Amino acid sequence: MATATVECPECGAELQLDEGSIKGEIISCSDCGVDLEIISVKPPKVELAPEEEEDWGE
Ligand SMILES: [Zn+2]
Repeated sequence: MATATVECPECGAELQLDEGSIKGEIISCSDCGVDLEIISVKPPKVELAPEEEEDWGE
């Protein structure tokens, strides 16, 4: 099975997701170093991770 790849929304670099990657995991772009959150594994999608933790309330 091929490794899933995603495009960095910040710099456009192609990143490989690890086989064991899960939704919600934070990865770093190997090119620009930005933190990205995996929002979906199938299909593979990432978004810029928030720099600060949001207070969503409880
Ligand atoms: Zn990048």
